[in-house]
Amino acid sequence: MTTGCAIRRSRYGADPTPAGWAVHRVYRPDVGEGGLAVTIKQVQCLLTYLGYDPGGIDGLDGQKTRQAIRDFQTAENLGVDGVAGEQTAIRLKDAVWQDRFAKDNIVPSSGQPPDLPDWWSKYKWFAPSEFRCPCGKCGGGIEKMHEGIVAEANALREYLGVPIVIVPPDGHSGGSGYRCQSYNDSLAGSVKNSRHVQGKAVDIITRGVPDEKVEARLAQRKAAGKIRYWYRISPGAHHMDIE
Ligand SMILES: [Zn+2]
Ligand SMILES: [Zn+2]
Repeated sequence: MTTGCAIRRSRYGADPTPAGWAVHRVYRPDVGEGGLAVTIKQVQCLLTYLGYDPGGIDGLDGQKTRQAIRDFQTAENLGVDGVAGEQTAIRLKDAVWQDRFAKDNIVPSSGQPPDLPDWWSKYKWFAPSEFRCPCGKCGGGIEKMHEGIVAEANALREYLGVPIVIVPPDGHSGGSGYRCQSYNDSLAGSVKNSRHVQGKAVDIITRGVPDEKVEARLAQRKAAGKIRYWYRISPGAHHMDIE
C-alpha cells in the first residue's frame, strides 16, 4: 500500500510532499530548522522508501508506524521515542537523500545536507545531489565537487538541449560524479588517482543525441582549454574532467 507516496529531490534534499497533501514548509538550510514540519503520511512515505515497515501509508499514527520510527531512530543513533520530531524528520530526509537504507551499514551523519557554496545556484540543470557518490556510506561528498566541472556539465546540457544523467535517485545510471576512494577502487578498471575522487570529473549519460555531436563539443572544449581530458566510455556515455 504505497499509493500516494512520491519522493522528489531538490537541491535542499528529499521532499516527500506530493501534490494533494497538506502544504508544509520544508526543511531548508537557508531557513533553518524551524522551517520543518512533516505529516505522519510523509514520515511513512520516507520510512517505506528506506526499507522500514510503518505498516502502510495511511496517515495514522499506529503501533507499526511508531515501531518503524523507533527502528529508524535506533539505526541512526537518535533518541528513541517512536515520535518523528524535528531531529528525526531531518534525519529521515537526510537518509533518503544519501540512500542510507535500513539494510545498509549505518554511518554517522551530520543530520542535514552539507552546506554548499552559493555557486551551485548558477547551474540550473543539475541538483548537487546528482553529483553524489552513490556508495551510500560516505555521505555523498557533494561538497568536494569543483565548480569548473559542474560548470562544464551544465554548459554541455545547455548546448545539447537534452537531459544528461549523472547519478539519478536510484544511483544506477552508470554515470558518476564524486567518488570516495573506496567506491572508486571498487569499480572495475578505475584508476587509483581518478579525478572523480578529486571532484574534478563526471561521467555523463546522454540519450537522444548522436555521440558525434557530444564528442565534437567535448573536443572543442578541450581545445579551448576548458576541459583537460575526455573519452567515450560506451555509446551514450562519456567521461570528462578538468585540470
Ligand atoms: Zn562513497
Ligand atoms: Zn569518469
